[in-house]
Amino acid sequence: MGHRAEARIDINALSSNIAYLKSKAGVDLLAVVKADAYGHGLLEIGLLAEKSGADWLGVALLEEAIALRTHGVRIPILAWLVPPGSDFSTAVKHDIDVAVASISALEEISRIPNKPRIHIEIDTGMTRGGFLDEWAELLKSDFSRVDVIGVFSHFARADEPGQQQNVDQLISFTTKVQQLAEIGINPPIKHLSNSAATLFDHQSAFNLVRTGIAMYGLTPDIKSLGDSKTLSLKPVMQLRAKLHLVKKVPAGSPVGYGASAITSTDTTLGIVAMGYADGIPRIAQGAGVFFDGKRAPIIGRVSMDQFVVDLGADSSAHSGDWVTVFGDGSHGEYTADDWGAASLSINYEIVTRIGPRVPRIYAPHVY
Ligand SMILES: *Cc1c(COP(=O)(O)O)cnc(C)c1O
Repeated sequence: MGHRAEARIDINALSSNIAYLKSKAGVDLLAVVKADAYGHGLLEIGLLAEKSGADWLGVALLEEAIALRTHGVRIPILAWLVPPGSDFSTAVKHDIDVAVASISALEEISRIPNKPRIHIEIDTGMTRGGFLDEWAELLKSDFSRVDVIGVFSHFARADEPGQQQNVDQLISFTTKVQQLAEIGINPPIKHLSNSAATLFDHQSAFNLVRTGIAMYGLTPDIKSLGDSKTLSLKPVMQLRAKLHLVKKVPAGSPVGYGASAITSTDTTLGIVAMGYADGIPRIAQGAGVFFDGKRAPIIGRVSMDQFVVDLGADSSAHSGDWVTVFGDGSHGEYTADDWGAASLSINYEIVTRIGPRVPRIYAPHVY
């Protein structure tokens, strides 16, 4: 293997997560593949998700949707971050549904011929995307030149089941869907649930759920919902890297920029060929790599292209050996959740930021 690092994408884990989430939801599933499919690879994951039974694909950007279409995706695609001034006619040409979240976007898309397919986005309490202050005006708008396929909103706290804000958002959504019905707008597709709601809030499923993180086998929130295993999810990405150098050093050796760590004993250090340019967070402390059945923690600061791990005095590692940066944890390796915690962040950010220099290898793996 020629590379110095690789993200192995387990296609069986992906399809098993999709089947599980579909059965859990009991309704159609939209596979969220924005942000390069959370770092797993937009086109490959989009096509695999379609093959594995996803009913829809969802992305943030129109460019992402167009790339999926031009590479052969046939199921419906929704793009939900499509501001005024976007290339709406290309969206229509490629049969891409777009979210509309403002009067100006509605007016603009209404000027495109052939009845563009839209989903009305409602702000039900997250105070981010969707209609809020313009809602009353929307109810007086002309919808005759668009095809209103869907209406949707997004939860702010679905990873905290039982939170009152979830109830409030569901009520707000239902109320506003009713108000649309009163003016004769009855979109066939209503959708509100993300991964956490798909797993924990059956009432919000309507006729489509939008799953991102859980489809990649990761928990929406390790603290409140438990880890992948607890949720019966299979982590899809395993990140591996080469030790480009292994060296024995004495106690008292300063390691890395700023000499922020000093070896406390004679030990073996492994220099891992990945750094913050590849998405290894510079602030990560308390994570590391897994080699020969043991965890080897990071020592010193993460550099741009490399970081150093403490393999222990009696390590048998050699320059050129592969280590696991994160995996599903079943052998004791660090997980994306461990890296999230070690970086004051979350698993979403860890996988999404794995950089373009790291090849993604698609295979059915047996862990
Ligand atoms: C990212 C996103 C999702 C997926 O959220 P997960 O927590 O990853 O399941 C769903 N809907 C919208 C609108 C999103 O932006």
